[in-house]
Amino acid sequence: MVSSQSNLSFDNTEVAFKSKSNAALRKASWLFKSFDYPITLSWGPTLAKIAVGLGFKFVIKSTIFEQFCGGETISECNHTIQRLSDSGIGTILDYSVEGAEIESVFDETAKEIIDTIEKAKGNSSIPFSVFKVTGIVESALLEKKSAGLNLSDDENKRWLRGEARFFEICQAAFDCQVRLFVDAEESWIQEAIDRLAEIAMNKYNQNQAIIYNTLQMYRHDRLAYLKSQIENSTGYLGFKLVRGAYMEKERKRALEKGYKDPIQPNKQASDNDYDQAVIVCLQNIERISICIGTHNELSSMKAVELMKNYGIPNNDERVFFSQLLGMSDHISFNLSHHGYNVAKYVPYGPVSAVIPYLTRRAQENSGMAGQMGRELGLITKELQRRKQSKS
Ligand SMILES: Cc1cc2nc3c(=O)[nH]c(=O)nc-3n(C[C@H](O)[C@H](O)[C@H](O)COP(=O)(O)OP(=O)(O)OC[C@H]3O[C@@H](n4cnc5c(N)ncnc54)[C@H](O)[C@@H]3O)c2cc1C
Repeated sequence: MVSSQSNLSFDNTEVAFKSKSNAALRKASWLFKSFDYPITLSWGPTLAKIAVGLGFKFVIKSTIFEQFCGGETISECNHTIQRLSDSGIGTILDYSVEGAEIESVFDETAKEIIDTIEKAKGNSSIPFSVFKVTGIVESALLEKKSAGLNLSDDENKRWLRGEARFFEICQAAFDCQVRLFVDAEESWIQEAIDRLAEIAMNKYNQNQAIIYNTLQMYRHDRLAYLKSQIENSTGYLGFKLVRGAYMEKERKRALEKGYKDPIQPNKQASDNDYDQAVIVCLQNIERISICIGTHNELSSMKAVELMKNYGIPNNDERVFFSQLLGMSDHISFNLSHHGYNVAKYVPYGPVSAVIPYLTRRAQENSGMAGQMGRELGLITKELQRRKQSKS
């Protein structure tokens, strides 16, 4: 059980699930249980695609999609935005389509991201926007740039178009005064993403943090990178702190290509650097705004304690906590209930296009010992509590 001196407890299921009906909780319980069957994980993505192709989209839409996504379009997300907002929780609209790497699709994606920024303008229920650079720039170009390789004339033209899309999105965020997260991706393309984010921060963060880069603390070089950013910049900085989502892929590639593994030697080392990064940012709160993006209860509680120790008010706009929709409501809703700033990533997009995202969520939530066991235990506890309070 993780609780603090200020009575904040992540075990308070009444607060955690107050926006969910019994039927919604039973459905979530059934869904999490289904992730424990290896067949669901191995065949799920293929079956989901077939179901959508055969016109049974509603099956996916009313189950796993409903749990982890806000809707197929921005306007379909309105009910989720309202439901979260009723509990003081913000929404971060995350266009989660993983499409073809061609210019027309990149242009459409950039336009959609700008639409999310315009939707967030002046709307306190949507405190941030977010995007992935691979949604608007070819991965191969990001990889070449990161490795310091020269681009051919044709590649250079495509790179300049991608760069223009990146800055168009940042400019829109600045014009609308909407804070914008640049998501972190694989280490072999991250160097180029960091350079773009650094330039944007330097340009747009002169009065406050508008552009936030993301630091994956499962990388052993990120704490040093954070400190160098603080030393070498003069304006405001914004960072979203996460552990990192591509560990297996990173280790596999490093082994295959024979370079030093960029990932920490073990989980404890990732946890230590994560918590250390929170300390460094909070110690520099006059210049740094952060988003603590984690489902880890201990890291969240440590951040809460640190805020208290440093005299930072719970609702200080420079500190946000964030979790993904459909996961760790016990953290989000309890933090918000105690006056902390919380925003959920709300992925959206056509059902068939978000299947890769949904597959990752199913994999992440599999295994009784992991996240799924925790979520399931809390849902069961809340259903029992409601039953007892009725009788
Ligand atoms: C709001 C939000 C935004 C996010 N944005 C991004 C993003 O931009 N880019 C991105 O990559 N991910 C992103 N993620 C995903 C995130 O990186 C993690 O995969 C996920 O949140 C699980 O980590 P955790 O902090 O919740 O805690 P935990 O469940 O405590 O930690 C699990 C994580 O620890 C690390 N880990 C596990 N085992 C080991 C090991 N043996 N050695 C070293 N490290 C280990 C891995 O990163 C693993 O994902 C985001 C998550 C959230 C909630």
